[in-house]
Amino acid sequence: MLPALVLHGGAGDVDDERAQAKLIGVQVAAREGWRILNMPEGSALDAVEAAVRVMEDDPNFNAGIGSVLNFDGDVEMDALVMEGHKLEAGAVACLRDIKNPVSVARLVMEKSEHILIAGQGANRFAEEQGVARLQPEELVTKYETKCLEDFKNDRKGKPPGVGTVGAVAVDRKGRVAVALSTGGTCGKTPGRVGDTPLVGCGGYCDEAVGAVASTGHGESITKACLASSIFNLMKQGISIQNAADESCEFLTSRTGGTAGAIAVSKNGETAVAHTTDKMPWAIVSDGELRAGVKWGEEVSEKI
Ligand code: ASP
Repeated sequence: MLPALVLHGGAGDVDDERAQAKLIGVQVAAREGWRILNMPEGSALDAVEAAVRVMEDDPNFNAGIGSVLNFDGDVEMDALVMEGHKLEAGAVACLRDIKNPVSVARLVMEKSEHILIAGQGANRFAEEQGVARLQPEELVTKYETKCLEDFKNDRKGKPPGVGTVGAVAVDRKGRVAVALSTGGTCGKTPGRVGDTPLVGCGGYCDEAVGAVASTGHGESITKACLASSIFNLMKQGISIQNAADESCEFLTSRTGGTAGAIAVSKNGETAVAHTTDKMPWAIVSDGELRAGVKWGEEVSEKI
């Protein structure tokens, strides 16, 4: 039933304390996204942007404040916004010192003639659009500084960046949208761009079918074109949950990487899938907010 909203807070393995903080974080973001989506004129695009902004502002997620650090100890962020009516998309890659990259991605979609702007050009574009620039250290948390140290000491011991955020929604008018934001993977080579800002890899949507957002090992997701793989199975009439499960499992068997995804159909059906042990997620539809992190465990509330 319309409208419907699904969020994720990153596929990957985190300890229970951090998983609990992320579970609370996705619920807070879901309430904010739903507040917008549930308005009489609430748009899917406004709702996914708002939900992602909440998670970018939450240091427990690998996006905005709390982003993982690259090998040099700097934050470089990727983000994507796409809407399913005109298939408009906007994205940024390797953006620095900006609190809410998802909103810069939306500005790229709405105010530029391009889809993806990277690096210094992305920062220059943000500045021209009047977006405030932070001091670099304002996005850096002690937790991520320690993660980078651990990564450098034992590269095999550290999972790649965990806590990327994403949201998909369908509104009352049947419009669909997707938004994603990430700091990427811990210890990445400066200048590395993951799947998140790539249309068809990090996210995809078309109002004829629905919307999809990915998370997990970006190089594997890009090789498997995860979002478009799920989208195409949905288009062929495969059930949304099977489409998401099959595509994530294919990615893992074919590339050896792990990933997760969320999806919503134009009719408001929803799916959450992951080949990791954990992935914080939240679904809001039919007056209920459901959320979870681990397989088989979920909490719910009336909304
Ligand atoms: N997919 C993101 C990247 O590789 C990371 C994540 O989703 O955790 O940049």
